[in-house]
Amino acid sequence: MERTKVIDLLRREDYGAEVNVKGWVRTKRGSKAVNFVALNDGSTIKNVQIVVDVNKFDDETMRNIATGSCLSVEGTLVKSQGAEQSVEIQANKIEVYGTADGYPLQKKGHSMEFLREHANLRMRTNTFGAVFRIRHNMALAIHTYFHEHGFYYWNSPLITASDCEGAGQMFQVTTLDLKNPPKTKDGEIDYSQDFFGAQTSLTVSGQLEGELAATALGAIYTFGPTFRAENSNTPRHLAEFWMIEPEIAFMDLKELMDLEEDFIKYCIKWALDNCMDDLQFLNNMIDKGLIERLQGILKDDFVRLPYTEGVKILEEAIKNGRKFEFPVYWGCDFASEHERYLVEEHFKKPVIMTDYPKEIKSFYMKINADNKTVQGTDVLFPSIGEIIGGSVREESYEKLTNRMKELDMRLDGYEWYLETRKFGTCPHAGFGLGFERLILFVTGMSNIRDVIPFPRTPKNAQF
Ligand code: ATP
Ligand code: MN
Repeated sequence: MERTKVIDLLRREDYGAEVNVKGWVRTKRGSKAVNFVALNDGSTIKNVQIVVDVNKFDDETMRNIATGSCLSVEGTLVKSQGAEQSVEIQANKIEVYGTADGYPLQKKGHSMEFLREHANLRMRTNTFGAVFRIRHNMALAIHTYFHEHGFYYWNSPLITASDCEGAGQMFQVTTLDLKNPPKTKDGEIDYSQDFFGAQTSLTVSGQLEGELAATALGAIYTFGPTFRAENSNTPRHLAEFWMIEPEIAFMDLKELMDLEEDFIKYCIKWALDNCMDDLQFLNNMIDKGLIERLQGILKDDFVRLPYTEGVKILEEAIKNGRKFEFPVYWGCDFASEHERYLVEEHFKKPVIMTDYPKEIKSFYMKINADNKTVQGTDVLFPSIGEIIGGSVREESYEKLTNRMKELDMRLDGYEWYLETRKFGTCPHAGFGLGFERLILFVTGMSNIRDVIPFPRTPKNAQF
């Protein structure tokens, strides 16, 4: 008999039909005579209820039907008596594919920490099923958005010989014998003998390569893994995360902000349009304000705030008695308490902050006429803080290389990048969205470790 997925089965009304479903037992309850088994196959957050007449099945089968075990059930589709579901299945034949003695996820309400220790199994809980269905949907939304707007999906290499922003600790990639590496005459490690003939690392951003592609294909986006060996043990940082990096020729600051806002609203609308069952579950169980907050994002225009104005607002707040842990002054890099004050307390809407002091931003950002600020943008969200970092790129070869020299960056190693500015340079802009930060926001989960299947963080690469 052909298998029906639970999501399809729950929509059927052809009572009396013989059906087959396969899935994992969430719960089993009932009396000596009749048991009710909640079966889930991952196609939806909803379970299908299997009504089991205990007398029809042998003892071993009944014992083996337990939380965590995997079943194939054939039975009759009937209208459900209960209010929770429209249909249920009266079991005629049950095959136990896999028993689950000692299954660790027995009771409801396990802590997130406990579930992280069982990340190999946590996908089978309602919460993580919902999170990963939403994660899939967000990937689909992102690809669809860019495809519909004429962007090409394009891939930057993950192994790189350049340190993208001069910032961020990188993970080295080497095949050298770490116990006995080859040395040069000066006693340094001789990377010419390494696999790539140079010192290489995992990428911290695909942007620089993305810029090359934008000056050829017009508009591209990358969507891939990114690695940062920063030792920041926060609920918003991973050592391995996924980043979406569009890069667009002929785009100015205003158009960049329009794109950032339109794109992120599209993703959130997609979730509301396509993931309501999962969102409702998360709204009930994880974060009572979730759906309202998502809808709120769609209602308002994002605030567009020059950094200098932001400093003034914060200084004003301090004058009026608001306390912050970190000092505020023109030139400071905002701490997340400052970003959250602006977004959650002052404006109560997302803020796109622009025109930062050049000292706190990357070398490639376009310098304004004041020669003090750059055309960088951070999109700041409630509860998350920075979700997008973007900028107009400096397209002048002279200004860009001058800035690199000011920052004591070596130009050799960047010739391939600088050639974009030598040969047919063009105004262009782009941004990076942390995929998991988006998923955090859309699911209402509070720790970034819980929105990626197997998180990589300092001292943790289990599974
Ligand atoms: P933050 O200040 O939050 O550490 P950043 O300014 O270092 O971030 P960018 O280099 O601007 O980050 O990267 C672009 C986007 O990638 C960020 O806006 C954020 O959404 C995401 N991101 C950056 N670092 C991480 C990380 N360690 N884990 C998960 N997402 C990250
Ligand atoms: Mn940033």
